[in-house]
Amino acid sequence: MRADFHMHTEFSTDAHCSPEEMVLGAIKKGLTTVCITDHMDKDYDKEGKQFVFCPEEYFSTLRKLQGEYRQKIDVRIGVEMGLQPHLKTFVGNYVKKYSFDFVIGSVHLIDGKDPHQEKENQMEDSILYRNGFENILECVKQQMDFDVLGHMDYVVRYGKEKEKSYFLQDYAEITDEILRSLIMQGKGIELNTAGFKYGLGFAHPHISILKRYKELGGEVITVGSDAHQPENIAYDFDRAKEVLKDSGFKYYTEFKGRKPIFIQVG
Ligand SMILES: [Zn+2]
Ligand SMILES: [Zn+2]
Repeated sequence: MRADFHMHTEFSTDAHCSPEEMVLGAIKKGLTTVCITDHMDKDYDKEGKQFVFCPEEYFSTLRKLQGEYRQKIDVRIGVEMGLQPHLKTFVGNYVKKYSFDFVIGSVHLIDGKDPHQEKENQMEDSILYRNGFENILECVKQQMDFDVLGHMDYVVRYGKEKEKSYFLQDYAEITDEILRSLIMQGKGIELNTAGFKYGLGFAHPHISILKRYKELGGEVITVGSDAHQPENIAYDFDRAKEVLKDSGFKYYTEFKGRKPIFIQVG
C-alpha cells in the first residue's frame, strides 16, 4: 500500500512540520500518493488554541507543493473535519465551499469534552467508550457531509485500562447502527494505524468492527497513519495490509475530488 490518507502538518495546532517536510517524508517512504488532512475542528478549544486553519493559505501552499513534486508523488488536499452534533450546517457549507479531494469526519469531543484532556475524568471505561460511540452515532445519523468516518474507536486510547477494558460485544448494537448508517449513506470508514503506534495492539477500528463492516456490505475503506511527523508516515502499513486481508477486503480506497478510487490490496 503506497498511499497514506491521513496526516497532519503545521496547519494543525497539534503538529509542527511543514507540508513540504511531510511530502518529502512520504517520498522517502516510497509512497506514490499522499493526502494531507489537517484539523478543522470548529468549537474545539485545546488549552486556549483553536483547531482551525486558514483555508486560502492551506490551498495555496498545498497547490504549490502539488506542482513542485508532481513527478515524484501525487499530493491530494484533504481535511479532518471535527464533528459535533450542532455542526451539521457548518460542516456542509465548509466542505462545499472548498475543493477538497477528501474529507474525514472525526469525533474528537465526547459530550463537548476532550477525553484526552480530562485528567480528572473519573468515568468508568465502559461508560467512556459507550459515550464515544453514541456521540459518533449522533453525528452519523445527521448525515453530515464527509467521505469516511475517522478512527472510529479511538476513545479506547483514553480509557484507564485502554484495550483491557474494551469489550466490543457490549457495544455491538450501537457500532452496527453506525456502520449500517454509513453504508446506507455511501460513506466509508478508515483504517487508522495510530492505534498500533499507541500500543493498543490494534488499528482503529478494531478488526472485529472491520469484519462486521465488510459483512454488512461496506466497501469504502481508506488507510492512514494519522502521522504528525514524517517518521510516522505509513506507520505499520505492512501490518495494516494483513489486517485488511484478514477482514476480507480485496480493495482499499483512495479519494480524488471526493470520488472513491478502489485499489487492489497487494
Ligand atoms: Zn483525529
Ligand atoms: Zn488526525
